[in-house]
Amino acid sequence: MTAQIIDGKALAEKLRQGFKARVEALTAKGHKPGLVVILVGADPASEVYVRNKVNGCLAIGMHSEKITYEATVDQATVLAKIAELNADPNIHGILVQLPLPGHFDEEAVLEAIAADKDVDGFHAENVGALAQGNPRFIPCTPYGVMKMFEQGGVDLSGKEAVVIGRSNIVGKPMALLLINAGATVTVCNSRTRDLAGHTRRADILVAAVGKAKFVTADMVKPGAVVIDVGINRLPDGKLCGDVDFDGCQAVAGQITPVPGGVGPMTITMLLANTIEAAERKAAAA
Ligand code: NAP
Repeated sequence: MTAQIIDGKALAEKLRQGFKARVEALTAKGHKPGLVVILVGADPASEVYVRNKVNGCLAIGMHSEKITYEATVDQATVLAKIAELNADPNIHGILVQLPLPGHFDEEAVLEAIAADKDVDGFHAENVGALAQGNPRFIPCTPYGVMKMFEQGGVDLSGKEAVVIGRSNIVGKPMALLLINAGATVTVCNSRTRDLAGHTRRADILVAAVGKAKFVTADMVKPGAVVIDVGINRLPDGKLCGDVDFDGCQAVAGQITPVPGGVGPMTITMLLANTIEAAERKAAAA
C-alpha cells in the first residue's frame, strides 16, 4: 500500500484564497482584520515564524504588524503593550510568539491578552471553552489538522485515535478536538509504557513529539491516517517530521508530509481565527 498524501500546502492555499473575500467584505465595512505579533528576543526560528505570520496576513489584505523587544525587556513593558492593544479597536488578534525568555511568566503574559483577541487560543477561557466542546478560538496547529481530516474525508467518529505528545500548544488541544469529534482518544507522553502497543491500535495517529523520524513503520496500523506535526532540523539543514515518512508511507492509508503538511496549515488557521475575531466584532458593532 502507498498512502494517499494529505497536501497541507495545497489546502492552505485554497483556504487562503477563500479568506480574501471575507477580508474585503470586512474592510468595506470598516473592520479590516488586524493582527499584532509580539516577538521578544532574536531567536532565528521565531523570527522566521513571525515573518511568515505577518506576510500571510498582508498577502490576503489584512493589517498586520510585528512589535519586537530585546530579550532583556521586562515583563511589565510587554504587559503594558498588551493592555494597549487590548483596547485598540483596529486590532482583532494579538499573539505573543513563544517561547519567551526565562525571566517571563509565560502564563501571566498569555492570560493578559483579551480572550476575544486571543487568536492562538491559549487563554484559559478559550482552553476551557474548547474542553467544554464549545470552542471560540481553537489553537492553530490542531485546528489545521482538523481541516486536513476534513480534506482527506476522514470520519473521526468511533475511531481509535492516538496522540503522541501532551503539550498545551499541540497535544492537549488536539486530543480535545478528537474527543469532541467522537473519537476514542489515547494521549501518550515520554513516560508511556509500550508506546508502539498504543500506536499500532490507532486508526488515527498524530505525532507531536519533536524527535526526527520517531514514528517508524512498525508502529503504524495498516491503513491508518498518520498526521506529522513535528518540525525538526536535520544536521544537513533539511526539515524533517516526527514520522519516518518513507517507511510509514508504505503502511499508512493517508499521511501528511513535512514540509508541506501541517506547517502551512498552522498559519492559515491563525488567519482564520483573526478574520473570525473581526467578523464577531463587526457583528456586535
Ligand atoms: P513539546 O512541548 O516539546 O512536547 C513534546 C511532547 O512529546 C511532550 O508531551 C513529551 O512528553 C512527548 N514526548 C517526548 N518524547 C517522547 C517519547 N519518547 N515517547 C512519547 N512521548 C514523548 O513540543 P510541542 O510544542 O508539542 O511540539 C511538538 C513538535 O511539533 C515539535 O517538533 C514542534 O516543532 C512541532 N510543532 C509544529 C507546529 C507546526 O505548525 N507544524 C506547531 C507547533 C509545534 P512529556 O510531556 O512527558 O515530556
